[in-house]
Amino acid sequence: MKLLEGKTAIVTGASRGIGRGIAQEFANQGANVAFTYSSSEGPAMALEEELTALGVKAKAYKSDAANFAAAQELADQILTDFGSIDILVNNAGITKDNLLMRMSEQDFDKVIEVNLKSIFNMTKAVQRTMLKQRKGSIINMSSVVGVKGNAGQTNYAASKAGIIGFSKSVALELGSRNIRSNVVAPGFIETEMTGALDEKVVQGWRDAIPLKRGGTPADIANACVFLASDMSSYITGQVLQVDGGMLT
Ligand code: NAP
Repeated sequence: MKLLEGKTAIVTGASRGIGRGIAQEFANQGANVAFTYSSSEGPAMALEEELTALGVKAKAYKSDAANFAAAQELADQILTDFGSIDILVNNAGITKDNLLMRMSEQDFDKVIEVNLKSIFNMTKAVQRTMLKQRKGSIINMSSVVGVKGNAGQTNYAASKAGIIGFSKSVALELGSRNIRSNVVAPGFIETEMTGALDEKVVQGWRDAIPLKRGGTPADIANACVFLASDMSSYITGQVLQVDGGMLT
């Protein structure tokens, strides 16, 4: 049996990387998938076709997760198009790394807006629908950096730590209505982006991980399938580290 049969999922930032992996695995598990992108129109359309070919309903939406009004419009449109919203994966995220000494106010604010405020925007936007349905699973993408901190990423680490506090609070507020809220904290995940990095540096990172490899988008997607499905129906307010043992 497919684990997400008949459920509708929203995945933000699914035109590439981890979000794309989540959208693919959700569709493989029978979910109807509404997903967003920021500017990668071509890859988003290609993914929409790929998912539709799996026999589920799938649609790409260009929408800025950092924009409050746009998030509300998006959720309304998805509800009209799909009829329900059972799962929300807040995955969209960016980095603008620099040492604190050199970090501009703009780069701090931008990362907080796209990574953290987006989660407020999207959760508010789906809340009423999930309350009416008396069920829902919200999955927020943090990072081991949000748990541990990282030099050169004060803005990113602050946004990812903020996600954990937000998510635990939502779990407390909405638990009585059968709405669950959990966090996935990936470690080093190898995507097209990391493929461009120096192989020696990347090998050094792999060697430092107990499982001796970087993660794949599928590794994160599988954790999300679990948290989205009824297999995790008694799990809320948790942070699941998917990092090959990096933070152990
Ligand atoms: P990525 O390859 O850079 O993809 C980011 C996605 O987010 C893209 O689909 C992008 O759309 C979208 N996006 C960016 N800004 C957006 C906005 N304002 N509104 C809507 N969508 C937006 O990133 P990734 O490596 O897959 O990471 C995905 C998530 O996992 C992020 O939250 C990241 O912080 C987290 N994470 C990643 C790693 C890792 O090792 N890769 C580790 C820990 C946590 P466009 O393609 O249109 O730009």
